[in-house]
Amino acid sequence: MGRGGGYGRAAEIRARRGRDNGWITLGLRPADIVPWKVAPPVAADKVPAVPRTLSSFSSSPRPGMSPRPATFVRRAARVLPALLAFGAIPAAAQDDPPLDLLARVRALGLPSSTDRITVYFDRGHEAKAVRLRTLVQDAVQFFSDSLGVAPDLTLAVVERPTWERTFTWQPYGIPGVEGTPPVAFLPATDDNVAADDALSIAAGISDSARRLVRAAGSTWDDASRRYVDLVALHELGHAFVASYGISVRSKWFNEWLATYFAYTYLRAMRPREAQLWEGILQGYTDAVHPEHRSLADFERLYAGVGARNYVWYQAQFQARVAAVHDAHGVQFLRMLRSAFPRGAAPVGSQDELLERLEQMRAGFQKWRGERVPG
Ligand SMILES: [Zn+2]
Repeated sequence: MGRGGGYGRAAEIRARRGRDNGWITLGLRPADIVPWKVAPPVAADKVPAVPRTLSSFSSSPRPGMSPRPATFVRRAARVLPALLAFGAIPAAAQDDPPLDLLARVRALGLPSSTDRITVYFDRGHEAKAVRLRTLVQDAVQFFSDSLGVAPDLTLAVVERPTWERTFTWQPYGIPGVEGTPPVAFLPATDDNVAADDALSIAAGISDSARRLVRAAGSTWDDASRRYVDLVALHELGHAFVASYGISVRSKWFNEWLATYFAYTYLRAMRPREAQLWEGILQGYTDAVHPEHRSLADFERLYAGVGARNYVWYQAQFQARVAAVHDAHGVQFLRMLRSAFPRGAAPVGSQDELLERLEQMRAGFQKWRGERVPG
């Protein structure tokens, strides 16, 4: 992937348009395609068709929980031309996520289960739906208790056919959060690109990555599937960031923040899953030798770095998240809201942002130099 693969051109186009966002990825084969993203709508006439195999972990800005930069856009829109040109991937109708997504989900007539949060699900998947609802509900409760923030959420856990006629803008299998009020949608089955990509790097991971997933009571293969649920927490992290009111115009830092929320919850309430999450991302650091390694490239290209390279960046962010969390825990989120409140003047540059973070917790500059130099 990357510029040599025919994919770089799409990235360049995106970069020129100044669009970007979340945990996204793509590639030339389904197994290469994996995103974690954050995206806002783009004019319909500017949105190209999207291959069904493209994926991204997404969530977009919502009124009232907002501070995502206006430049955040439908990532899928940008990625596609090169893939389509490749001819290997069928195009699907592409559109923007509707604001009334909840009404559309309700109109599907699916069974549902309500506790503090309602989950809609395809028949046969109630157990998984309730398990995911519990995960999300617990995370919402945790941040309600600790930070006083509780985005209003509904869940949908569906199979591919329901997904493809409802969440038409996003490939099956990549969790996302869209609409007002927000609906988090999650795959009911394991045949998704995020899991497949993690499975495919097994040969290159280190003993320490294996030890982490083993400590989580898992194997690499099992962890590759289970971690997709945890990507949902990263997506919810974007919703929490917006709802809580931390506002920073930085692609890498918004990804870092979403993971900080997810990891804070996991460490406090689900420590074994925190190890599983860290194990998978350690595996990406071990096994992936990316073309793009600098913070500057991430800011410039975002998901345009390519699927696997994108998850590699997420792994570098996780390393710094863990270090800061060890020192400050949930308190660091309060510190960040004081330092970067919604409505404050935006940071002037990524260098300025790093220096301000360095003042809050030493080690950001060293991390940058060692992990994402440049
Ligand atoms: Zn993200």
